[in-house]
Amino acid sequence: MTVYLVGAGPGDPGLLTARALELIAGADVIVHDRLIPVTALDGAPPEAECYYVGKEGGGPSVTQEEIGGLLLEHGAAGRRVVRLKGGDPFVFGRGGEEAELLREAGIPFEVVPGVTAAVAASAYAGIPVTHRDAASAVAFVTGHEDPGKPESALDWESLAAFPGTLAVYMGVARLSAIAARLRAGGRPGSEPAAVIERGTLPGQRVVTGTLETIAQVAAEAGIRAPAISLFGAVASLRAQLAWFESRPLHGRTIAVTRARAQASGLAARLRELGAEVLEAPAIRIRALEGDLPAALDRYDLICLTSPNGVACLFDRLTAAGLDARALHGARVAAIGPGTARALAQRGILADVVPERFVAEGLVEALAGTEISRALVARAAEARDVLPDALREHGAEVDVLALYETVSEPLSDAQRRALAGADYVTFTSSSTVRFFFEQAAGALAPGTRLASIGPVTSATLRELGHEPALEAERHDIDGLIGAIVADAAGGSAPG
Ligand code: SAH
Repeated sequence: MTVYLVGAGPGDPGLLTARALELIAGADVIVHDRLIPVTALDGAPPEAECYYVGKEGGGPSVTQEEIGGLLLEHGAAGRRVVRLKGGDPFVFGRGGEEAELLREAGIPFEVVPGVTAAVAASAYAGIPVTHRDAASAVAFVTGHEDPGKPESALDWESLAAFPGTLAVYMGVARLSAIAARLRAGGRPGSEPAAVIERGTLPGQRVVTGTLETIAQVAAEAGIRAPAISLFGAVASLRAQLAWFESRPLHGRTIAVTRARAQASGLAARLRELGAEVLEAPAIRIRALEGDLPAALDRYDLICLTSPNGVACLFDRLTAAGLDARALHGARVAAIGPGTARALAQRGILADVVPERFVAEGLVEALAGTEISRALVARAAEARDVLPDALREHGAEVDVLALYETVSEPLSDAQRRALAGADYVTFTSSSTVRFFFEQAAGALAPGTRLASIGPVTSATLRELGHEPALEAERHDIDGLIGAIVADAAGGSAPG
């Protein structure tokens, strides 16, 4: 088996390569650094052994020898080892040394390049590292060494004479000495410069200035590692080309309280719009034990009220040795497009999908249809509006409780992080109840509560919280639209 030296990119999970994800998914052992995307290990097999060997607070917690030892031990044992590093493994990542070590030990290795920080952070700052009119070359430089020391391996004079963009890694702490050496070497004090902190991440910050001013500007802004410092005419292009900060939810921290299993779609869409997403699931879905009602074919209407209900119903069908054909005799109604999609994925196109997404909508949509016997398959704790309305409609109604919603505990770290949330999203009454049971004091006073619809809003008000916004369309798209509109309407990023 092989040891893979894999680049994880600069931080944005979208910049992990397809090859990196594939290798992570098949790894026996993962040895990773600190600066890898937060989601990088989500696809790792649960049984994979993970070793964190990053540096916390400056000092190495695991020495390079120990890291090498891990690679040799697991590599020699024939495991699939993924050595995951921030950015590119061969750019200031000591990947070269690790490859040499493996080569000497006769352990096969492969290298998977990653998007390196200088290129990625610059791109996300709206700065092309080369440009036809502004720079025909780019140099990657380490700022790790003290440029004031005579024994510095870097020839700063030659670097100052370099005809192009200088991208300095690991240099923020020594920015003022670096700028001074470059000026002493002949680069003009008026040359544009930029420093990009946490490039490609939601908290990316960029400061710009000139070779003369940049150290002070960065110090005043409190810029810290990880950051890339750029020197060269291209840095001035940011004034026109900055795009990252102009996304509609840039600078907003948004908490998602949905159950973990359902949260990913909403979280991904919010991230795409520039938000920093705080996953704070307040609830979890627990399937209830039980059988299917006998003779499903006596129903002329089967109502599903959520994607969870669809999943649980099909689990029960499968357990009973049945499939979608068991529902063939009935009309199938889906509350909301998500439920309809979940049915469609299992081969059933809902006959009725009410335009309004609350239970009342279904009754409206059924007006004019005769229903004699209906099955409502749903959560244990759901409201009785739908069965009651169907009964009023003349139907005999059975309710099948498929799952219940239970509280998901929030960690102390999640609770602390919630203090920085600009918005908290609520997609159901149960997220509201379980969230406030645990997080009542955790939110800052200005946090805006975003509700998916009137039922959820009513639950918020019942608990004494006025929603700042309510979606017009009671689905995820509607909720996102309402937040974007609210953010554009001038509530300043916190
Ligand atoms: N192998 C990595 C570099 C490792 S050295 C790569 O190819 O990118 C660590 C340095 O990389 C940090 O001190 C910082 O200068 C830079 N860096 C890493 N991630 C960064 C990010 N998201 N934004 C800005 N700089 C980053």
